Formats: sequence, structure tokens, C-alpha cells
Amino acid sequence: MSQKKVLVTGSSRGIGQSILKSFSSNEFIPIGTATSKIGVENILKSFEENNISGNAYELNLNDGKSIDSFFENLKKDDLNPEILVNNAGIAKDNLMLRMSEEDWTEVINVHLTGQFKLMKNFLRGMLKNKWGRIINISSAAAAIGNKGQSNYVAAKAGIEAMSKTLAREVGSKNITVNCVAPGFIETDMLKDLDEDYLKTIADEIPLQRFGKTDEIASLVKFLASEEANYITGQTVHINGGLFM
Ligand code: NAP
Repeated sequence: MSQKKVLVTGSSRGIGQSILKSFSSNEFIPIGTATSKIGVENILKSFEENNISGNAYELNLNDGKSIDSFFENLKKDDLNPEILVNNAGIAKDNLMLRMSEEDWTEVINVHLTGQFKLMKNFLRGMLKNKWGRIINISSAAAAIGNKGQSNYVAAKAGIEAMSKTLAREVGSKNITVNCVAPGFIETDMLKDLDEDYLKTIADEIPLQRFGKTDEIASLVKFLASEEANYITGQTVHINGGLFM
């Protein structure tokens, strides 16, 4: 069987890095992204170290020009992913009364508008192949709300609704569209949060700990596999029982 091309956005660190690593075998052609040249070089270096022929590109989802040149670069290199993992993300938290319009727009751009553009661009190839997998990384916060995250939560809830709609539009072409909604996962995204707050949260989680990036990667890899052929339009929660 031919190697499937897998694009994982935001794969220079955190959850995305683990997802990209899980697809770094000769079964796949992994494609990573970072917002900086150095991030791209690091991804390429890790492919080299593991003897994997993968690719990496710069992509800033808050910048239309960067998205356009990303599409051009992939086209030039004849890389049309059959599996798209929309993972890249940021948080710009503040209580609604203090949230600037700039922070609102940036988070919506990166998570929601950016993902729309990527899905739309890569759908054509999937439709032609009559096979595709789209996995969008949402968050438990979309289901339960989170103080100080009105921008982030609105974007993630939007992604879930958009994914269900797309799942209905392309199901007949053998393309599945699902979301993975992590709870608290050990990445840079947690590093600015207050330690006491994190301890209180960890105590409330039935499994009594935060998740690991590899645990999210395993779920994403399953949803991309043939074993998950009959799963579409779903949001799969993975949070140690924090939300059930
Ligand atoms: P992270 O460690 O902060 O990594 C974020 C990744 O996104 C990096 O590769 C970063 O690239 C990239 N990125 C940042 N801004 C970008 C932009 N404007 N355009 C394109 N890429 C950008 O984050 P994470 O915790 O792994 O989060 C990954 C995903 O999981 C996000 O969608 C997040 O919302 C979701 N999530 C995380 C948690 C959690 O507890 N960690 C919980 C629920 C959901 P650079 O390295 O170049 O900056």
C-alpha cells in the first residue's frame, strides 16, 4: 500500500510533536509545521535522526500570506495530504471585560479560520482520491466553558460544529472528520497557569494527573487508521475523567 501523507500543524512542540512522531514511520510521509525557521529546522533534524523522509514548512495561521505560501510550497513539492491533523493552537486568555479585540481575533484566526482554510484547501485531493481523514484538535473547555477563555472556547466549539457539518458533506466520499478534545495535557500551554490552580484541577481529575502528549497522539493515530473507518462527526474526549 502506498505511503499516506500526513500533515500535522503546530508540530514543533507539545501535542503536535507527539502526533507527528507517531506518524514517523515508513508507512507514512509526515509533514510538520512551525511558525519559525528554527522550528522547521528542528522538525527536519528529528526526521533525519530517525531516518524518516519527512517534510516541514513554516506556517502562521494568523497571517493570510503565510497560509498562501504554505499552500504554494506544498503544491510545488507535490504533497497533498490524505490525513490532515489540525493541531496548531494558542491561548490568549483574559476575562471577557478585559479581552482585547486583537486577542479575540488572533485566537479565532489560528483555531477556526485557519482550520477552515486548511480543510478547504486539502479537501479537493481527498475528494479525488475518495479517501481522507481530518482530525481537528478541540478542547474539553468547549464542552464545559472556562473562565478567561471566551475566545478559545468559542473557537473550539466552532471547530466541533464545523467538523460535524463537513462530516455530513463528505461522508459519501469516504472522508471522515472528527475532533479530539483533550483535557489538561502537559505542554507549554499549561506553563503560564497558576500552580495552585493546576494542583486543584489535578485533584479533581479521577485519574489524578494531567495527560501526556503521547496519549493524545495514540487516539489521533487510531482515528486516522482503517480501524476507525466507521467513525465520523464525533468529538472524542480524552481527559482522565475530568469531564464525563
Ligand atoms: P503548545 O505546546 O503551545 O504548541 C503549540 C503549537 O502550535 C506549536 O507547534 C506552535 O508553533 C504552533 N503555533 C502557535 N501559534 C501558531 C500560529 N499562529 N500558526 C501556526 N502554528 C502556531 O500547544 P499544545 O498544548 O501542544 O496544544 C496543541 C493543541 O491542543 C492546540 O490546538 C490546543 O488548543 C489543544 N489543547 C491543548 C491542551 C493542553 O492542556 N495542552 C488542552 C486542550 C486542547 P511554534 O513552536 O512555532 O510556536
